[in-house]
Amino acid sequence: MKLEDSVGVLAGVGPKKLEALASLNIKTIEDLLLNFPFRYEDFARKSVYDLIDGEKAVLIGTVVTEPVVNYYGRRKSKLSFKIKQEAAIVTVSFFNQPYLKDKVASGYQAVIFGKWDDTRKALTGLKILGGQFKADDFQGIYHTNKNVKQSELEKLVRQAIKLGYAALFEEVLPKFLLEKYRLMSYPSAVKALHLPNSETDYHQATRRMKYQEFLLFQLRLQGLSYLDRQEVAGAAIHYDPVRVDTQINQLPFELTGAQSLVLAEILLDLKQPRHMNRLLQGDVGSGKTVIAALAMYAAYTANLQSALMVPTEILAIQHFNHLTKLFGKTVKIARLTSGLKPKEKELLLAAISAGEIDMVVGTHAIIQAGVNFSKLGLVITDEQHRFGVSQRQVFREKGQQPDVLMMSATPIPRTLAITAYGEMSLSVIDELPKGRKPVITRVMRHKDMPKILSWLKGEIARGHQIYFISPLIEESEQLDLKNAVELLDELQLYFKTDARLALLHGRMKNDEKSAIMQAFKDHQVDILVSTTVIEVGVDVPNATVMVIMDADRFGLAQLHQLRGRVGRGVAKSYTVLVADPKTKQGRERLKIMTETNDGFVLAEKDLEMRGSGEVFGLKQSGVPEFLVADILQDANILEVARSDAKLIWQLPNWQEKPEFSDLNKVLTRFDQSIFD
Ligand code: ADP
Ligand code: MG
Repeated sequence: MKLEDSVGVLAGVGPKKLEALASLNIKTIEDLLLNFPFRYEDFARKSVYDLIDGEKAVLIGTVVTEPVVNYYGRRKSKLSFKIKQEAAIVTVSFFNQPYLKDKVASGYQAVIFGKWDDTRKALTGLKILGGQFKADDFQGIYHTNKNVKQSELEKLVRQAIKLGYAALFEEVLPKFLLEKYRLMSYPSAVKALHLPNSETDYHQATRRMKYQEFLLFQLRLQGLSYLDRQEVAGAAIHYDPVRVDTQINQLPFELTGAQSLVLAEILLDLKQPRHMNRLLQGDVGSGKTVIAALAMYAAYTANLQSALMVPTEILAIQHFNHLTKLFGKTVKIARLTSGLKPKEKELLLAAISAGEIDMVVGTHAIIQAGVNFSKLGLVITDEQHRFGVSQRQVFREKGQQPDVLMMSATPIPRTLAITAYGEMSLSVIDELPKGRKPVITRVMRHKDMPKILSWLKGEIARGHQIYFISPLIEESEQLDLKNAVELLDELQLYFKTDARLALLHGRMKNDEKSAIMQAFKDHQVDILVSTTVIEVGVDVPNATVMVIMDADRFGLAQLHQLRGRVGRGVAKSYTVLVADPKTKQGRERLKIMTETNDGFVLAEKDLEMRGSGEVFGLKQSGVPEFLVADILQDANILEVARSDAKLIWQLPNWQEKPEFSDLNKVLTRFDQSIFD
């Protein structure tokens, strides 16, 4: 018996159920048990007299009539009986669960969870809680989908725990920390998160899990900066300021004040015999790419290699073209992506390790084993928030302590940035290039589509280009694709020969993607229908309209990124959010998009509205998704974990001490998992 056992070992899980569970990412018992409830139904018992109409509550009473099942329609049934609580008699009915009849009988003490109907003084039963009920019981509620029901998950978890699987979770935290904070053991915490005996039990379990998650995260993060501090002075990069200036003067535009300032900060860092560890933040469209290019050029004039890592193939292609256009005559630039043929790749890797290539642009293919540089001086990650901590670490280890610049458009608060990236310097581009007009954003309904389309015809006639983003289906790339194809067909039908359309999606091969992006750039395509693959970084200044279908499915940060694809040229630009949000919250979120173009303001608003919404960009900020902890709400635990991690790193060779061996094991496992 081990945690890696397939969930198939549980009774009632056949091939079909296996597949259904896999759709929730539950394949092993470990997955099942680490899939904690996301909220808890509070089963506090109530008196009938305190209930309000529509409230869900638990009633306890004596069954005073024999239960009766009435069948009606096809397969429909109603089980009813009456219970007595104090002086009140309450009718209880359960729909379509005739088998519950055997669970109650006249004279029994019944504990029923249901929904109160105050006019009829009746309870619509949802659940019979049985005999082990305690006054403060609380029931976990899991994320489910159409394939797996709440009650099924619950049963499987119960079964796994009964079989003793929870006990297999090995303790991770050293004893002295468990004692210091009086933390529950790991196995008990896992069990208590699923089946808390009481509210206190649940609180103790979450407290432990939050601390563990934060401590592991902080240990890894601080491991990075610890290595920085330890290292003897990093190499100073003696770039040639005259040649860098020449490049700046040859740009097709003048740098903004903010760009010049930020570039100066970076160049100063390069020159210092100290390690650069800098985060460059700038709202979408603020012109970060050219700063990266100039910093890479500076490294080149010092005879050092540089590398630029980006999250998508499309961006790799775009940045490669951009660098080639700027420096291609003198500098050797290569693109390293996963789509290369083995032979090409082999040659390229040899050239990189021989130092024949000066600049490498690529996706995470850059950090794969086998990629070795001969003298890597500078590494830059674009759209930094898309990479995890371990990926950044590996990237850095490719060089002999290279300087590191991370670029991000996600304006996360400073404290959060430190949490996510560790201690580092910060540069901000807080100014857009001259002549930019704010993007006009409108929320429209699906029924307005005819109006929107006829207006788009006009935009195309004026020589402008359009992005159309198909609805987002988070769980399924396949459905994403289907949606995009359907949208393309509809638009094709409408525009006929008035517009040239093309489709872009994540499943295409690299050269297909590249060809389509190029065609759009060259204005051989008027309307680009796409999934969110173009979300980050794509730059086509002649595109003036961004239409986002079912915009209410996207997070604010994502909408802002998408909107950032337009308004990059001089022409007036628009973003049309097509949605029929059903909730007030949903309407408000979209309204905010129409009120500001400023990512930092959006971030603040999003924080204010927090509760149901995601925190702006947090999901994409590179901060791992914690299972239980919440960076904002549990800030105090995070702080404790942070200082504990610091103390641990200050112990010489802590990894070799027996009390830390389990902790260290888990950390090492984390680091390797990124190569899976
Ligand atoms: P982001 O910060 O979102 O990565 P980009 O680097 O893609 O932004 O720049 C957006 C657009 O602005 C590009 O077309 C770029 O060439 C242009 N650009 C950058 N800096 C300037 C500037 N100082 N003046 C005018 N246009 C600029
Ligand atoms: Mg960019």
